[in-house]
Amino acid sequence: DAIAVLEHVSVRYGSVAALDDVSLEIARGEILGVVGESGAGKSTLLNLLDAATHPTGGRVRIHGADPARMGGGEIRRLRRRIGMVFQSFNLLANRTVRQNVALPLKLQRAQDPALVAELLDYVGLADRAAHYPAQLSGGQQQRVAIARALVTRPGLILADEPTSSLDTRATEDVLELLASTRRDFGTTVVLVTHELDSVAAIADRAAVLEAGALRSVFPVARSAARG
Ligand code: ADP
Ligand code: ADP
Repeated sequence: DAIAVLEHVSVRYGSVAALDDVSLEIARGEILGVVGESGAGKSTLLNLLDAATHPTGGRVRIHGADPARMGGGEIRRLRRRIGMVFQSFNLLANRTVRQNVALPLKLQRAQDPALVAELLDYVGLADRAAHYPAQLSGGQQQRVAIARALVTRPGLILADEPTSSLDTRATEDVLELLASTRRDFGTTVVLVTHELDSVAAIADRAAVLEAGALRSVFPVARSAARG
């Protein structure tokens, strides 16, 4: 059962192939690490999975549907089922932690204070709900961003270099939290990173991009203690 499928997907910008004939299935409930040098096509892949970019060749299916054939309303509904986590957290500085987590709901004119509180508790920041992002450490800010990503119950989380601005300790916390979302919410996680250690720590499979081509996809061996 695949949550997302790419079939012979290419994305061209003029003469540059950001992705070239990439075929990949992302299984429901897996943690897929995506690695590659700068310019390899990682952001382009995430943009496809977030329905922000459409392929110039081939076909993408997310949650069973082809975003290239959807109208704006359908795309917005699809994107609610996808949570994004960024390298730079992308929290609103003039909103409290609680407001930041509630924001995706607010954008849909919805609210669920109990779920927001529950998710803040889940990421270990219940006592910081009224704080502003600048009052938190980087690791704490990223945990707020993960709570925000979960608040629409997304099924798929796309994490773009989520630990690249963090120290070792916070990196471990954030990776552990991302991995736990699968167990606790059944989410599928796509983790884009240049840190091979992060992939080794939590991913089930690794996909290697090189100059727009998918060089290999392989299972990640890790010790039973972590798995
Ligand atoms: P990565 O995230 O691995 O660094 P990207 O997906 O950002 O790689 O980029 C892949 C290639 O596509 C690069 O050569 C980049 O310059 C090019 N590219 C990406 N987005 C655009 C764009 N909007 N316009 C032109 N070229 C782009
Ligand atoms: P239950 O055993 O009560 O079904 P779950 O372990 O599935 O609970 O979820 C715990 C809580 O997290 C639930 O109260 C639910 O509201 C919330 N939840 C479940 N899935 C998600 C999700 N994908 N994103 C955010 N919250 C979720």
